[in-house]
Amino acid sequence: MAKVWIEDSCIGCEACVDELPEVFQMGDDGKAHVVNPEGASLEEIKEVAEACPTESIKVEE
Ligand code: SF4
Repeated sequence: MAKVWIEDSCIGCEACVDELPEVFQMGDDGKAHVVNPEGASLEEIKEVAEACPTESIKVEE
């Protein structure tokens, strides 16, 4: 199973949460968090990771 995580550099723009709410949700800390790494295909997650303005979404296969 691929490992998906978000680094502290997240600025809370919510782009990833808008795209894949099954995988990412905003936390009380104003940053996105991974709630279910299997909520979307790895390809979809990688696309969202590439679109993150701060490159905070990391995927390890
Ligand atoms: S797209 Fe990147 S910066 Fe925006 S909320 Fe998601 S992880 Fe944070």
